[in-house]
Amino acid sequence: MMRIYRPDGYVVVFLSCFILLVLFIPQKTVQYEFNLYRVVVDPGHGGAALYPREKHGDRFDLLSGTYLDIFREGASLRGYHEHEHMYNVASKVDELLACCAPGGDFGKFYRILKKYTDEEPARVYISHMLSRGDSRDRDAIKNRKDPNAEFRLFDYPDDNGNMRPGRITRINRFRPHLVVALHLAGWAPRYYRGLNAVIVPPYEFMHKGLEYLKGERRSRSFYYNQPYRDWFVESVRRSGFSWFKNDVSMYFTGFRTKPSGMIDTRAFRGYRYNMVEWNYADGPGWALAAKFHKHNTRYADTYKGFKPEGEFWEREKSKYEAYRRGNGPEGYGGDNLYASNELIRYILYSLEKRGVRHQDHRVAPPYISIWSLPLHVNAITAFLEIGYLNRSHTRYLLRSRTDEIAEGIAVGIYSLFTGVKPREGRVKHVPSGKKIDLEKYRITNEIDYFESVTAK
Ligand SMILES: [Zn+2]
Repeated sequence: MMRIYRPDGYVVVFLSCFILLVLFIPQKTVQYEFNLYRVVVDPGHGGAALYPREKHGDRFDLLSGTYLDIFREGASLRGYHEHEHMYNVASKVDELLACCAPGGDFGKFYRILKKYTDEEPARVYISHMLSRGDSRDRDAIKNRKDPNAEFRLFDYPDDNGNMRPGRITRINRFRPHLVVALHLAGWAPRYYRGLNAVIVPPYEFMHKGLEYLKGERRSRSFYYNQPYRDWFVESVRRSGFSWFKNDVSMYFTGFRTKPSGMIDTRAFRGYRYNMVEWNYADGPGWALAAKFHKHNTRYADTYKGFKPEGEFWEREKSKYEAYRRGNGPEGYGGDNLYASNELIRYILYSLEKRGVRHQDHRVAPPYISIWSLPLHVNAITAFLEIGYLNRSHTRYLLRSRTDEIAEGIAVGIYSLFTGVKPREGRVKHVPSGKKIDLEKYRITNEIDYFESVTAK
């Protein structure tokens, strides 16, 4: 009797639990049977560097009511265009990720994964988005009323003066765990070899730079004796340290420096965190307060008068930003550098498996910068420069090996979420295969750092 009764009892208990669960799940929440991760693949650039800047530019500044930057259309050399090839690769990655979406053809992706590992790949869900549309038909784009509309990084006004979401805002609305930005450089010095990440250093280090600009710190050793010294230079006419000072100044105050290191109050580059829609922008009316760049505020136009206060600066100082940008599995650069380098290792692994080898196949040290995308999303950001257009090997890869590159990136993305123990073999570049610890980004049971970017 007991044998017959007990299962029925379980069924009753199970059913009541199920009914209770269904009753208490909020209507909007969709429950998946596997973990769900959100990924944005961001092919760099698109659009056109048209003049006048006031009409076609990017970085719309509410203080001056105009664009502070020309549109950055990306590198071009010998008929190769960064925006075009990165769109090619990104759309192939996006297609592969579609296999991991709920309802996707996971069997296809499973067979790809089995080429990389002897372990049994776990089913997870990946929800994916491309950050922009196709940019390959230049004439069609130039004939649009606002050719750069869908390609701008920052929010911009339409004809009626209503603000429209730029690329960064659209990415933040998706609340991704991971953003993969794909870029190519036009040219690099001979000694510079490999694929590299672009990362933003942690707040703590940037703040030392501000102390230096204020004259509170005399020695430059804080800069030279640490891993964030390979600063991105806009031109070789100024040293890396000089560009570092310029970027520290822009990061904190919004103003460039003169070559002397003094603040250049005529070269305002805007408050970027107020150019996107997210939880860290200043409240309504901020532009009125900012206009006079008052001393002892976050809008000051002197180093000594600058106060890092408000939502954005609290975010910058938070432990979550330190997880993204400081220390981490690579020893520095946080999860951002780990994700970037791991994807580079997967790209090289994928190429080598097909017998594509080259002396430039290596993980190069990252460029350090304050670029807009890695700074203004909460997601772990893999920002990759995957080649140099002046190198014939890069051009060969773009012509003939984009399938291998895209596959490496897609498998790498999956591995960052689940961990894939790569099969060792006669390959030089074996990925670490370790997943990122996303649990540390959990704020409460209800919300994590990735979702909090736009959650009310
Ligand atoms: Zn680029």
